[in-house]
Order: sequence, then C-alpha cells, then structure tokens
Amino acid sequence: MTAHIIDGIALSKQLRADVAKRAAALRSRGVVPGLAVVLVGENPASQVYVRNKVKACEDSGLHSVLERYPATLSEAELLARVDALNRDPAIHGILVQLPLPAHIDAHKVIEAISPAKDVDGFHVASAGALMVGQPGFWPCTPYGCMKMLESIGYDLKGKHAVVIGRSNIVGKPMALMLLQKNATVTVCHSGTQNLKALTLQADVVVAAVGKRNVLTADMVKPGAVVIDVGMNRNDEGKLCGDVDFDGVKEVAGWITPVPGGVGPMTITMLLVNTLEAAERG
Ligand code: NAP
Repeated sequence: MTAHIIDGIALSKQLRADVAKRAAALRSRGVVPGLAVVLVGENPASQVYVRNKVKACEDSGLHSVLERYPATLSEAELLARVDALNRDPAIHGILVQLPLPAHIDAHKVIEAISPAKDVDGFHVASAGALMVGQPGFWPCTPYGCMKMLESIGYDLKGKHAVVIGRSNIVGKPMALMLLQKNATVTVCHSGTQNLKALTLQADVVVAAVGKRNVLTADMVKPGAVVIDVGMNRNDEGKLCGDVDFDGVKEVAGWITPVPGGVGPMTITMLLVNTLEAAERG
C-alpha cells in the first residue's frame, strides 16, 4: 500500500484564499486585520520564520508590522512594547517570536499579551479555554493538524490517537483537540515505555518530538493516518520530519510530508487566528 499524501501546501492555499476573502470583507467595513510580530535578537531560524509570517500576511491582505529589537532589549522594555500593542486598535494579533534571549522570562511576556490578541494561542487563558472547550485561540501547529484531518474527512470519534510529544505548544494542545473530537488519546513522551506497542494500536499518530526516525514502518498499523510535526535535518542537511517517510508511506493510509506538510499549515492557522481576532473586534 502507498499512503495518500496530505498536502499542506495545497490545503494552505485553499484556506489562505478564504482568509483573503474574509479580510477583504472586513476591509470593506473599514477594518484591516493587523498582526504584530516581535523579534528580539538575531536567531537565524527565527528571522526566517518571522519573514515568512509577515509575507504570508501581506499575500492574504492582512496588515503586518514587524518589530525587531536587539538581543540587549530588557524584559521591561519588551513588556512595555507588548502593552502598547495590546492597546493599539490597528493590531488584532500579537506574536512574540520564541525563543527569547535568556535574560527575558518568555512566560511573563506571553502572559502580558492580551488573550484577545493571543493569536499564537500560548497564553494560559488560551490553554485554559481549549482545556474546557470554550472559544479561544488554538495554538497554530496542532490546529493545522486538525485541519489536515478535517480535509480528508476523517471522523475521529472512537478512534485511537497516539500523540508522541507533550510540549505546551504542540503535544498537549494536540491531545486536547483530538479528545474534543471524541478520539481516545494516548500521550507519549521521553519516559514512555514500549512506544511501538502503543503506536501499533493507533488509528492516528501525531509525531511531535524533534528527532529523526522516531516513527518507523514497523511501528505503524496498516492504514493509519500519520501526521509529522517534526522539523529536523538529515545527513545531507535537508529538512526532514520525525517520521521515516519512505518506509511509513508503504504502511500508512495517509501521511503528511516534510517539507510541505504541517509547516505551511502552521503559518496558515496564524492567519486564520489573526483574521478571527479582527472579526471578533
Ligand atoms: P519539545 O518542546 O522539545 O518537545 C518534544 C517532546 O518530545 C517532549 O515532550 C519529549 O518528552 C518528547 N520526546 C523526546 N524524545 C522522545 C522519544 N524518544 N520518544 C517519545 N517522546 C520523546 O518540542 P516541540 O516544540 O513540541 O516541537 C517538536 C517538533 O516539532 C520539533 O522538531 C519542532 O521543530 C517541530 N515543530 C514544528 C512546527 C511546524 O510548524 N512544523 C511547529 C512547532 C514545532 P519529555 O516531555 O519527556 O521531554
């Protein structure tokens, strides 16, 4: 069997076209959805991420502001900027690119963002809303994974989903979203014993670890849906996921590639969240 590919680029295109349409409708009512992206320091990966986010906004008719600061910016100065953006009516979404320099408490900064503008979905209020099933912003990466499952018409009710990884930004919210759709969810982490015995029972596996070949063909139930969140480099320096794609695609029913899978969806869901923040007013 060769798995169907869930194409994150094609799905992103569809969703971004919808964002552009809704953004145009808002503009006609005098509201331009606006995202502020704050970058502190010179982390090369972060610079690429923020550029991509700003460009994606422009392409979809969203207003974006990129604020760049040197790594020497103090925590108090950054908190003051966040406060100003919270009060800026032209800004509907605020994203502070992580990681922050070591002298800045990232948690404190995230908590300073107004929950109404927390389009990354990292604020404790957003996490709590997801936990209790109330409206709020969902973290973009797991939200994108849910959209990918939705795009193939996958009904999660009663299915066994195994999430590998329990970070606050991917694994844990992913588990809660799957649970909300009535899957039976198992969350695995570095202390999990016999991961393979668990993944072999899974109808859906989401790998969010950050290590190559965490999931290999012998660990996958035939026909399962495999979503690869990981971003790693292979021996040739090329981007790859956590999943042994070539092997697993011969066993799985559906699989997301890396690159071209979850990555573009993450940025797309940031646009969706920003648009929704503007629509909520
Ligand atoms: P993270 O905070 O480092 O969390 C990794 C998780 O994997 C932890 O919960 C860890 O367990 C678990 N883990 C480590 N080794 C394991 C093993 N051998 N077996 C099972 N679980 C293991 O990472 P993250 O921020 O969630 O990101 C995960 C990956 O997704 C990274 O490659 C990251 O670059 C990528 N990512 C991609 C996107 C995208 O847009 N495509 C967005 C975000 C993240 P413990 O909790 O026990 O340490």
